[in-house]
Amino acid sequence: MAIRSTKPSWRGHLDKVLKDEKYATSIDRSVHGDYHTYREILTRLDRIVKRFPRDVSAFSIGTSGEGEPIWGFRVVTGTGGKTGPPPRFLVSSVIHAQEFIAAEANVTLLERFTNAMRQNRDLWNREVYFFPVLNPDGYRRVEKDLAEGRRHFARLNRNGVDLNRNFSAFFSRKYFLHRIMPSIWHPGYRPFSEPETSAYREFLLETRFDYALSLHSFGGWLFYPYGGTKKKPREDEWYKNLCREMIDRQQNYGYKAKQLGRFLPFFLARGTETDYLYEVFGTRSLLVEIGRRGLKMLHPKVLFNPFHWFNPHNPKAEIENLIESLFYFLSQPRIRPLD
Ligand SMILES: [Zn+2]
Repeated sequence: MAIRSTKPSWRGHLDKVLKDEKYATSIDRSVHGDYHTYREILTRLDRIVKRFPRDVSAFSIGTSGEGEPIWGFRVVTGTGGKTGPPPRFLVSSVIHAQEFIAAEANVTLLERFTNAMRQNRDLWNREVYFFPVLNPDGYRRVEKDLAEGRRHFARLNRNGVDLNRNFSAFFSRKYFLHRIMPSIWHPGYRPFSEPETSAYREFLLETRFDYALSLHSFGGWLFYPYGGTKKKPREDEWYKNLCREMIDRQQNYGYKAKQLGRFLPFFLARGTETDYLYEVFGTRSLLVEIGRRGLKMLHPKVLFNPFHWFNPHNPKAEIENLIESLFYFLSQPRIRPLD
């Protein structure tokens, strides 16, 4: 019989991360850009938890293949006098190992959201769950690669599975891209075969969301469902409007928007998080590919290190260009029926 281990406390785990040498990696920011190690990300998150003890709570949904807890952060804002059940939002990132800018954007959004929640009426009466690092093993593997000068394309989890092809909606082992390029898109042997997606699924079955943002890099795209089929979603018009409004709020340059399954003629993204949320729960999910600029492809450092394809040297500028549109997403009204 499997024994379910007790869930770690945030404080206890953080103490361990701060003491344990295995988390003592450092990233040379002059070379790789302004990115943070896993330990630094958790420390930054802890500052938010400490600053808003009544509004922000940290919880683990389970553990990765290497036993690392997968942390979520729940923020509940005050009603501001409003009544009625609040809309519920999900913001996830780093389901793919090397997409560090997505974690930076997620944590920045959490910081700004908590700072703004008491002043900004648009943010009153809502519940937002942030998952900055869904694939902690992948993240830690990449920070080690950076520290030790290895240049890997790193997308998968410890078992070599693309977690964002391991969800049940339109899951396929036989899809030709999964077969010819398993080092990029290995979907796993069955839906939710992986510890990370299986823990996440348990959580999603318990907690229903009106809206979800799935942060990735790169390309400067807003992708809406479906990804696994060319069939249009019921809310095609709603998504087009939402994306227009979001793009209008980008300060320097706008991303482009498209249904993910119609991005390229031969391409489908089968078994993704966003399709699962949309198809199974009716969650209005949106995938954001952060970062159009910052890719000086001919610079040797960029050309030969995949980390730099995915992560611009100045993540702060890229995130500033995006943050207002993410706030707009979080200001949407409730659509979920009563629980
Ligand atoms: Zn990705």
